[in-house]
Amino acid sequence: MRALVLEKPAPIETDPLLLCDLPLPQISEEEVLIRIRACGVCRTDLHIVEEEIPHHLLPLIPGHQIVGVVEEVGEKVKDLSPGELVGVPWLNRVCGRCRFCQDGRENLCESALFTGYDVLGGYAEYVATHQEAVYKLPEGYKDEELAPLLCGGVIGYRAYRMSGVKKGDTLGIFGFGSSAHLVAQIAKIEGVEIFVFTRSPEHQLLARDLGASFAGRAEDHPPHLLTSAIIFAPAGNLVKNALLYLERGGAVIMAGIYSTPLPEIPYSLLYWERSIKSVANSTRQDVRELLDFAQKHHLEAKTEIFPLTEANRVLQLLKESKIKASAVLKP
Ligand SMILES: [Zn+2]
Ligand SMILES: [Zn+2]
Repeated sequence: MRALVLEKPAPIETDPLLLCDLPLPQISEEEVLIRIRACGVCRTDLHIVEEEIPHHLLPLIPGHQIVGVVEEVGEKVKDLSPGELVGVPWLNRVCGRCRFCQDGRENLCESALFTGYDVLGGYAEYVATHQEAVYKLPEGYKDEELAPLLCGGVIGYRAYRMSGVKKGDTLGIFGFGSSAHLVAQIAKIEGVEIFVFTRSPEHQLLARDLGASFAGRAEDHPPHLLTSAIIFAPAGNLVKNALLYLERGGAVIMAGIYSTPLPEIPYSLLYWERSIKSVANSTRQDVRELLDFAQKHHLEAKTEIFPLTEANRVLQLLKESKIKASAVLKP
């Protein structure tokens, strides 16, 4: 099978992903072999390839928004059979025994394994992965529309729930990429007003198209205060803007796995029980809830499709903020 392999992290401009021809992966008794039809490209992939987060497995096939068809199942695999359309997200395995797994916070598991980071991912034609990481997908979507739901959608959904907003509240969204434009749709469906802050005029337009009642730059004061805010852009300085526009008791949720340092903040901005919290991964429950939501309400993932072989170029475009919505690779 063809796969894009990272042997050594390096700046994306040097094309660190190598196109290789590998033998088809062998499955163990609890694993599923999936023929990949689409794999979403996530900013985390870029952080892994460039080692902005420490490397784990090398050589590595990145990619953790895998959509494909079950080709073969191991003897002990339950509820999955060949021919089914399935997805594999970022959270791959948890230990089930640590204190975090025990109290329902498996996203914080101390021995968690992640797809395309600790185990081989989806920048390939096939992937073999444990049954616990495999989810049936909602109907009525194209492959490329499902891929962004599996990370951008799931992480965005978790961030959205953590923000605590409800009908009639106002949610500020900082950065308007793959995850944010799905969250905007979820918020709108739930009757939450959306204000979007992004440098890109195109993203501002897209935000208004998706129902944002305000779209501007981070420095632009919104028409009224935010109940809570989610920061999707990996820019720590945005915390200050978000706090500046935040109601008493509001939360600033940082949805990225990486951010530049946070600025010095006057205590008065944090006072009135405002909080800053990060999102780390997601639980299997988050994945199931988001996929259920996507079955009940059609979420429109705006995508740009590229051939698998162009992964280096796509990650470079992502780095340069030249991807308008969600980039998806197709073998
Ligand atoms: Zn991701
Ligand atoms: Zn655990």
